[in-house]
Amino acid sequence: MSQAQQARDFVRTRGLPPGADLPLLAVQARALYRVLSDRANRRRAGDAAEAAHRGFALSTRSHPPGPGIACRAGCAFCCHTLIVVTAPEAFRLARHVRGDAAADRQRIAAAATATRGVPADQRARDRRPCALLLDGRCTAYDARPLLCRAGNSLDAAACEAGFGDPGIVIPASAIPLRLKDAHMLALVAALRAAALDARAYELNHALTVALPSADAEQRWLSGEDVFAGVQQGPPPPPPHAALLERLAAEAAR
Ligand code: SF4
Repeated sequence: MSQAQQARDFVRTRGLPPGADLPLLAVQARALYRVLSDRANRRRAGDAAEAAHRGFALSTRSHPPGPGIACRAGCAFCCHTLIVVTAPEAFRLARHVRGDAAADRQRIAAAATATRGVPADQRARDRRPCALLLDGRCTAYDARPLLCRAGNSLDAAACEAGFGDPGIVIPASAIPLRLKDAHMLALVAALRAAALDARAYELNHALTVALPSADAEQRWLSGEDVFAGVQQGPPPPPPHAALLERLAAEAAR
């Protein structure tokens, strides 16, 4: 079996490992690029996010975070911080909210207004909940972005002590965080290869842009800067920049 076939089989059955190398990342990036390039599919941006999230879930099952994870349903200290999403993730979240009769659009709009332009440190101090958090639970759990999927804690008491204090370091398993980096790299590379916007945007505001009409996804796919004015998150970290360029070239092959 060729090395390329081995890489495809590994990613199909086990997802990406933490610290995945270029051949494995390229398999995932190509799969996402294929979704993003299917011009007959008007929902291909949200579908690419869904494929990225499925890949992350498979990777997590194959590479669990290890013992001591303190996260539990109803514990949501981490949902009171600044979260950034890629545009496809915003469209996936919007699709989820639109299909949820119980979703409170007024609450989402109010959260977006209250958090617009607030820097990350201040967001942590303000203790304002994410627009999608209700009664301590994520109302869009199945569609939550990569950043939320990877967030974890080994110490619930530290999360409580650090609530409102961005200076407190929360001990966490590095495995989900490294898996998130790998899947984010593959998604960003696929977006670049497809000549689409690969920036990350603040969740609350981005959601109010993506939510009102499914048309926003088509306009974004045709190159319109629909998220203009939305607070942006950090670009991929510098050590990943060269890898990202190579990966984007591989994705389109
Ligand atoms: S999307 Fe869900 S998991 Fe993520 S911060 Fe918002 S409520 Fe929490």
